[in-house]
Amino acid sequence: MADKITSASPYRRSPRQRRLQRLGHRIAERLAPQLFAIAMNPRWGGLLSRRPYLPTRAIRRLRSPARAWTEPVPAPPEELRTVPGIRLDPKAQQLAFEQAPLHDFFRLHADTLRTLMPKATIMAPHVTTLARVETPTENLKERQDIEPTRPPVLVAPTKLTAQLKKKAAELGISACGVAVHDPKYTFAEYVGNAVGDRVVICIQEQNFDATQRIPSHRSEEAALSTYGELEDRLVSLAEWLRAQGYRARPETYLSESMVIPYAVAAGLGQLGLNGQLLTPYAGSRCRINILTTDAPLDVDEPVDYGLEGVCDRCQICVRRCPVGAIPNRRKESRGVTKAKLNTKRCLPLMVQSSGCSICMKTCPVQRYGLADVLAEYERSGRILGKDTDDLEGFDWPMDGRHYGPGEKPHIPESVTQPPSFAFDPDRTTPPEGQSSFLS
Ligand code: SF4
Ligand code: SF4
Repeated sequence: MADKITSASPYRRSPRQRRLQRLGHRIAERLAPQLFAIAMNPRWGGLLSRRPYLPTRAIRRLRSPARAWTEPVPAPPEELRTVPGIRLDPKAQQLAFEQAPLHDFFRLHADTLRTLMPKATIMAPHVTTLARVETPTENLKERQDIEPTRPPVLVAPTKLTAQLKKKAAELGISACGVAVHDPKYTFAEYVGNAVGDRVVICIQEQNFDATQRIPSHRSEEAALSTYGELEDRLVSLAEWLRAQGYRARPETYLSESMVIPYAVAAGLGQLGLNGQLLTPYAGSRCRINILTTDAPLDVDEPVDYGLEGVCDRCQICVRRCPVGAIPNRRKESRGVTKAKLNTKRCLPLMVQSSGCSICMKTCPVQRYGLADVLAEYERSGRILGKDTDDLEGFDWPMDGRHYGPGEKPHIPESVTQPPSFAFDPDRTTPPEGQSSFLS
């Protein structure tokens, strides 16, 4: 793989394409308040979300590969190993939960979002993909609480679990795992909705080419469309479980739970320094969603893929984040040892720069897959793609320039601290009476 890395990224736009991207970005900036008003208006937003659309699987530039990940994952060398999954302190986790249960971000920070989103260039891809996401979401909500019509089929848990994963693969879900339901990961707004003590975690790989064009209108459209694709498949998987006689309740893409801890617990990946789930096959180039069920499924175990060790030697996202929002060290927070992102710096940039996600784009695990990253590490002791434009280069829509390794755009304070932006990332409880941003 190392020989295939080109000195200039094949995804680098020509100067003319970058000028066009910048123009598109300026138009999105100018129209953001109107697009926000349309999307939030029940009549216009409703009309847009119900408009007919071509299925995402028919659109090459957006669609997920929709194939199950089956290639074996190589074992990491000893020096990259740390712990299976992530370091947890269960007592501290429980105490944090009892003192301050988690809340839905859209309710906890509704005030911030109401001031920020009318300036957000990500409104443009949200509006253009509204039907592609909202139609599957509405369909999922209608089918969320259907009860099984037959008694459970008597099958050994191991066999039932294998059948479930086979079904998920047939549906085109990239990876599927099972974890025990944990009330600590349910947002306080949705307590009581789970229908059993098992959580089925499903991962959908996101379009490769669109992701390498981050940040852009197209990459955001691909991310949102992938959620819609996954919701459709989750509904089918829930139907399959009901046909076996079990209850199954899929959650929408605006999840009712923290999904990443479940994915880590089920051995589907480990947490990267960028705060995202790194899967061995596609890094964080994927979308995650869950369903709860009372089916007696076998539970998967967390795995040490060596990803913490890779992150410690890589640190590319730490260096490439335009606003320095990613720390280079992990520390304990709520009983979990992880890198805690500076969301106060990330959030305003993210919404005003077509979703930013430079930390996803420049991650070698996302770009090349863990197998190639490990092979290069064992061969040369180096992180594959580090210091190359192929991996680290990106076109920045806010100024139409390309930034190679060692270069970063200047982000003015008007972007990181927009007028009336008041965001308290340490807030644990929504202000009294504050409704969800989405209601
Ligand atoms: S989304 Fe952008 S601003 Fe936020 S952490 Fe990633 S690179 Fe940094
Ligand atoms: S870019 Fe490097 S440090 Fe960041 S999440 Fe990916 S592997 Fe880890």
